[in-house]
Amino acid sequence: MRYVFGPVPSRRLGQSLGIDTIPLKTCNWNCVYCQLGRTIPLTNNRRAYFPRQDILAEVRQALATHPPGEIDWVTFVGSGEPTLHSGIGWLIRQVKALSDKPVAVITNGGLLHLPGLRKDLAAADAVLPSLDAGEAGLYRKVNRPHPEITFDRFLQGLIDFRTVYRGKLWVEVMLVRGLNDGMLELRGIAKALVRIKPDAVHINLPTRPPAEVWVQPPDNEGLMRATSILGDIAELVHPAEGAFDLSGYESIVDAVVAIITRHPMRQEELMQALARWTPRQVDEALKALEASGRAQVVERYGSRFWSAVGSHYPGARDRSPTLSVPGE
Ligand code: SF4
Repeated sequence: MRYVFGPVPSRRLGQSLGIDTIPLKTCNWNCVYCQLGRTIPLTNNRRAYFPRQDILAEVRQALATHPPGEIDWVTFVGSGEPTLHSGIGWLIRQVKALSDKPVAVITNGGLLHLPGLRKDLAAADAVLPSLDAGEAGLYRKVNRPHPEITFDRFLQGLIDFRTVYRGKLWVEVMLVRGLNDGMLELRGIAKALVRIKPDAVHINLPTRPPAEVWVQPPDNEGLMRATSILGDIAELVHPAEGAFDLSGYESIVDAVVAIITRHPMRQEELMQALARWTPRQVDEALKALEASGRAQVVERYGSRFWSAVGSHYPGARDRSPTLSVPGE
């Protein structure tokens, strides 16, 4: 599988079958907290990065492999900004025709100022855009967008989308200590939310390796401030727990690379995901992974995270992918 991964446990969508429409890491933002590392270079080009028929063929195969109870949502998400794929509207409509599972799009929302994209996303059951700032200066600091996506354009896109969109609009606010968790900053975000009128606001915290080494989640005071200022529809979303599905791949190495490319994993999580293999198989697979040069270990928050080798994490202290396997 090249374009479809999981199901993976999602904080908001249960067991989510991921569809990745773009190469690592194709994005028009360069968020300081991005778990995929820095965006190098920023791009705002919408095009068919991969043939849409090939993506759909994999979705069809994955849906046929998993019994109905194993998937809660089919989600467009992955190696960057999924709406940069020019065929996303066609893909959403095709997936809806293939399955009765609800379809979600996790997006930064930066391209919602385009009327064509607003129409494309209308077929999704839920759209989950980001909003980490209520004004241009903070937006540039946190999200470091492509210059074409000015704050005014971005915010107006969200507002315009809401007026036509009948599905669930769940806005995600990622909080970074000392950056957007202060009184003033949170009030700015709350004001923008009043204009957008989402169905829910999910307060999220960086728990996976952030692009910038100084990024930290807010302390308790910051969290309390956020929940009180962002209002009744805001809820704190805790990290998901659940099983990562690593089946459907020819080798353990392919399975691990498929997940960590979109979703860097703590070492303990990775070991848990590999628990159905014997310690010897895991050991051999991780040695093969190391030899393949397709993975790196990034140290953040005192934990070791496995990530794809194409991700850029400046200042990561530990890049040697070595593991001790329980039972060996
Ligand atoms: S968090 Fe999302 S929008 Fe931000 S840089 Fe990463 S992929 Fe792009």
